[in-house]
Amino acid sequence: MRVKAGSSNSFMRNSFKPAPFHFKSNAGYRPIVAQLLLVEDDAAIRDALIRALSGRGHVVTSTPAAMVALQQVLKTPPDAVLLDLGLPDLGGQEALRMIRSVSAVPVLVITARDGEAEIVRALDAGADDYVIKPFGADQIEARIRAVLRRAEASVPKAGEPLEVGGLRLDARAHEVTLDGVAVDLSRREFDLLHYLTAHAGQVVTRRDLLTHVWRMPYGGADRTVDVHLSWLRRKLGETAQQPRYLHTVRGVGIKLCGPA
Ligand code: CA
Repeated sequence: MRVKAGSSNSFMRNSFKPAPFHFKSNAGYRPIVAQLLLVEDDAAIRDALIRALSGRGHVVTSTPAAMVALQQVLKTPPDAVLLDLGLPDLGGQEALRMIRSVSAVPVLVITARDGEAEIVRALDAGADDYVIKPFGADQIEARIRAVLRRAEASVPKAGEPLEVGGLRLDARAHEVTLDGVAVDLSRREFDLLHYLTAHAGQVVTRRDLLTHVWRMPYGGADRTVDVHLSWLRRKLGETAQQPRYLHTVRGVGIKLCGPA
């Protein structure tokens, strides 16, 4: 989905002002290669960012449309999203809320509006960080690395037991108890429950699970996930029709939360 050089060039001739973007060399960075989804309708900025970020080893896909971005997040979850707030098809805040409702992917907001209220709204809507245009490639690269580091840090460490309602998962001891009673899980069921518990209260998509539990984002089938979820439900003494912890969010995924 790379921006065509021709269209970009003609756009740049007309309206691209090179001053805001001066992509310096980045000697000294520890390379982190990430899959990035860039959502930006300004072809000149999009093209410049693709070049700068690809040049730093990232794999960048891009789209000018929020709705396409939303589908991409569901289909092939990126490591982080760079989201322009001024998009033609959907308000940036709305796009942000929709992404947040289906995914915990880190979102870095790109905004030309430097009003404090705008930034506060974006952060409230679930943005992880923001950059204000114009910005240099070094700054956005540093912020991408920071959100990726924070996302990594939010993955639970094996030493910290997780508790949701009467459910307790101790990853170090590889033990799960429900209302004080041990639950015997297969390794995959345990990993699945671990991921869901670590993201309690958030909707997790099947693709998220295939990516993070099965580690096969493109090779797996949703059916695989559904079968393991049904086994997990049975061991937790619940069903899809009468859930206690594992709630299906129709057409989107699954959410673990404590019983009401
Ligand atoms: Ca825009």
